[in-house]
Amino acid sequence: MNLLQAYAQAAGPQAVEQLRQLAAHLRGAKVVHVNSTRVGGGVAEILTKLVPLMQELGIDVSWEVIDGEGEFFDCTKAMHNALQGNRTPISERLLRAYEETNARNAEALAPALRDADFVFIHDPQPAPLLGLFPDHPGQWIWRCHIDASRPYRPVWRYLLPHVTPYHASIFSLAAFAQELPHRQYLIPPSIDPLGDKNRDLSAEQVRAVTDEHGIDPERPLIVQISRFDRFKDPLGVIEAYRLVKRFIPSVQLVLAGGGAADDPEGELVLQEVQEAAAGDPDVHVLLLPPDADLAINALQRAADIVVQKSLREGFGLTVTEGLWKGRPVIGGRVGGIRLQVIDHHTGFLVSTPEGAALRIRHLLSQPEKAAAMGATARAFVRDNFLITRHLREYLTLMVSLRSGQRDRIELDRVG
Ligand code: UDP
Repeated sequence: MNLLQAYAQAAGPQAVEQLRQLAAHLRGAKVVHVNSTRVGGGVAEILTKLVPLMQELGIDVSWEVIDGEGEFFDCTKAMHNALQGNRTPISERLLRAYEETNARNAEALAPALRDADFVFIHDPQPAPLLGLFPDHPGQWIWRCHIDASRPYRPVWRYLLPHVTPYHASIFSLAAFAQELPHRQYLIPPSIDPLGDKNRDLSAEQVRAVTDEHGIDPERPLIVQISRFDRFKDPLGVIEAYRLVKRFIPSVQLVLAGGGAADDPEGELVLQEVQEAAAGDPDVHVLLLPPDADLAINALQRAADIVVQKSLREGFGLTVTEGLWKGRPVIGGRVGGIRLQVIDHHTGFLVSTPEGAALRIRHLLSQPEKAAAMGATARAFVRDNFLITRHLREYLTLMVSLRSGQRDRIELDRVG
């Protein structure tokens, strides 16, 4: 089975048919994506999936990676943090390394970039490339994956002359965007229904993971998967669980997250969580290895309810993942969680441990209602947050930039 067939099964044939129709409008166009790493991180993860799908749709697309060393990455790491609000200036020396690295890469990438019709530049690392191709014939789009809503101004002012000349920019959420003097698009993140974190699993595969962690599959289970971070409010989740336990003594809780070795704050939060959970065999605090996709998938499927009680959140991919597993999600009323948890339909939005406890009890005592909400949740993700929708928006953007003034694109009705 080819990729498009596999996605048609997961996302529905109509989603793939739309992609085919949009791709037909882009025949002959040369598209290039540029970022700074082929593995690791969300951008590489999404490109790993998007690029082969675009190729299978007959689009002439390639993915280039800029090559850099110590000072370049020190600089771009500092830029990333500054865009997210970290108030640390970047030295002239690092900025020079940034510009020189881009100039060197411009030479190496010239064959790919100089005649491309569409160039997607991901994040700040390769942003200066546009300025190094003054005679380019194509449309260049800056794709910012970072929450740039409150950037550290001196660093943002430095970046502005690099990003304003783009034809368009893309942000993930309205709340992340900055005003720029060109067309701006919002393309929310997505999940891959075929990857290990989200593909279907057999009951045995789920059971193997719950057995491994001593979770009783016969008793109700609440799961929150998150880095051990205060903004994810793991202590609030334990508080909610305790309130539920008074009424439903069989309830179990899993709080699972990755190692915190390089994050001293994370280690502290993990300790606090372990202390809060100590002595209760029904609270499972699991430290996950870096690549725990299958375990995360299984835990979300083992859950009766997925919780993401964040106090602050970007988009909240764990919410998407939980909803996709057909589980109602009880989520904090913050950030992108509000785009996904449609109150009373795909789950419940809450602001306090008491609120979370009330909703958890409500759903655990009405399994049929929970199942109906779970079905709505899965359909909602299928229609809005799968990689096929993500790609559809990239294609629509290119068709729209290509068609200039014409702002209607007619797609045939399918299905
Ligand atoms: N995740 C993971 N291991 C962990 C914790 C989280 O792989 O120990 C995954 C999780 O499944 C999700 C992503 O990392 O896909 C976290 O994204 P989200 O938007 O929920 O939160 P962030 O960590 O970016 O604040």
